[in-house]
Parts: sequence; structure tokens; C-alpha cells
Amino acid sequence: MKVITTIQELREIIEKTNKRQQTIGFVPTMGFLHEGHRALMKQARKENDILVLSIFVNPLQFGPTEDLDRYPRDFERDQKIAETEGVDILFYPSVAEMYPNELSVSVVVKKMTDVLCGRTRPGHFDGVATVLTKLFHLVQPTKAYFGKKDAQQLAIVESLVKDFHFPLQIIAVNTIREEDGLAKSSRNVYLTDRERVEAPELYQSLQMGVEMIQAGETNPHKIISGIKDRIANKTSGEIDYVSLLSYPELEEFESINGSYIIALAVKFSRARLIDNIIMNRD
Ligand code: AMP
Repeated sequence: MKVITTIQELREIIEKTNKRQQTIGFVPTMGFLHEGHRALMKQARKENDILVLSIFVNPLQFGPTEDLDRYPRDFERDQKIAETEGVDILFYPSVAEMYPNELSVSVVVKKMTDVLCGRTRPGHFDGVATVLTKLFHLVQPTKAYFGKKDAQQLAIVESLVKDFHFPLQIIAVNTIREEDGLAKSSRNVYLTDRERVEAPELYQSLQMGVEMIQAGETNPHKIISGIKDRIANKTSGEIDYVSLLSYPELEEFESINGSYIIALAVKFSRARLIDNIIMNRD
């Protein structure tokens, strides 16, 4: 595995793989790797000649009051995990390498941002789309792998690739969970012991929502308030949002039909957690 920290080195190595006509699987992450990231790497490893992993905590996607400075990091550990998963190129640039000067141009996401995380994290998806535009140009992947846990991100990245004609395929990977249902996340380390015990309630509440729908409930407002009540009663977290939307359009509706997503974000004392379930009513 080669660890590369500069754009120049990355360009040189990508040029070589292109000459050899090798396919490139790309897994972009912010590091502090866990089983969720591993699932992306495993699938990418199987489906491509070369596996590129990037680790970059992208300042552009963090708001001024968010956790950029204390986002968990452990590069040594990440390096070992990457090696075990068969990564060929680990791209680990500094902020100065990625953003040597203030950008004069950036990508603005125009649709799907007034719901879910977009509503409470203004500018977040512009930051995600901008860094991915840079990374896609640099890595030139054949396929790029994203987790369904970040469903809104996935939907926006699919639009980015389509709208800007990136010659690559986006592969969606199922959410990996702890045994008790909690979605794996780098931020889980910031849960207190008590919050860690409460946190599986998030997934259980989502499942309760699905059960309500399967039992015949079609009114989204009733399902959302059922989920909110349960989270409020069973956890100490502060609800950021609970939403039920059409999928993949991410639009509100009055009665459930076809594919839908139930998604939530809950703030615990030091970690804001998100989770979702995507289902089809039929
Ligand atoms: P992050 O490092 O949190 O930016 O995540 C990097 C990639 O891993 C994104 O595509 C995420 O959706 C994906 N990911 C994060 N957590 C999980 C999980 N529990 N299961 C599957 N994919 C995940």
C-alpha cells in the first residue's frame, strides 16, 4: 500500500494505472475507520483492479459551530485497517494540499438540500460536492462507493455525477450496524456510556415507523410523531429532525406510496447521530 499525501504524486500514479487500463475503485472517507468503511473497501476491492481510499476531514463541509476540530482521528490505526482491506493507494492530503488558497469556484447543490441534514447544516452538501468534484477529478475512479447511512449524501452525489458527466459509477452500500442495531459511525466514540445504551433506540424507532406503515398507516405525520415520542421518551438526545420522504426524490408527501425513507438526526451531548431506513411500501 502506498500512502500519498500530495496531488502531484497521486496524479502520477493514477496516470500509470490509466495507461495500464486498470479499473479504479474509490472509497472517500473522513477516516477513523470502522466496519462501515470496511464494507465499502471490501466491495471496492472485489470489483476493481486498484483500490484507492482517501482520508480527508473536509473543513468545507463543517459549519462554524460543528465538530471539525474534535472530529475523531487516528491515522496509524486507519493505515493498518486500510492495509488489511487491500488498499493499494491511501490518499491522505493535508488541508493546505487540498485548499492551497481560498476557492474562487465551488459547487452549489440546488436540489434536495431543504430537507433532512441540508436544512440544519446549511452549506454542508456544497462542501461535500465540492471536495468530491476535486477528488473525482484526481482519482478518476471507475466506481466510487458510498454508504446508504448517508442517504441524502448518496442521492446528491448521484446527481453530481449525472449533472457534471463524471465518467464513473456510484455504488451504494448497505448500512453496517452494531449487534444492537446502532449504525456504525466514527462519531459513536463520543457517546457517553449512558447515551451508548440509549442510542440503539434510534434504529428501533425507525423500525417502529416501518411497522406502522406495514400495519396500514399512511399518514406521515402520525408516523413521524410516533417516532419522535419514542425517542423523546427513551433517550436523552435532542431531536434534530425525524422525516418521512419519498425516495430517492426526498420529497414530502401526504400519503405513502412506493419507495420511502424514514430518516432522523439526534444530538447527544457530544455527538450528532444520523440513521435511516429505505423501504418500499408495495
Ligand atoms: P465518513 O468517513 O463518515 O465520511 O464516511 C465515509 C463513507 O462511509 C460514506 O460513504 C458513508 O456513507 C460510509 N459509511 C459511514 N458509516 C457507514 C455505515 N455504518 N455503514 C455503511 N457505510 C457507512
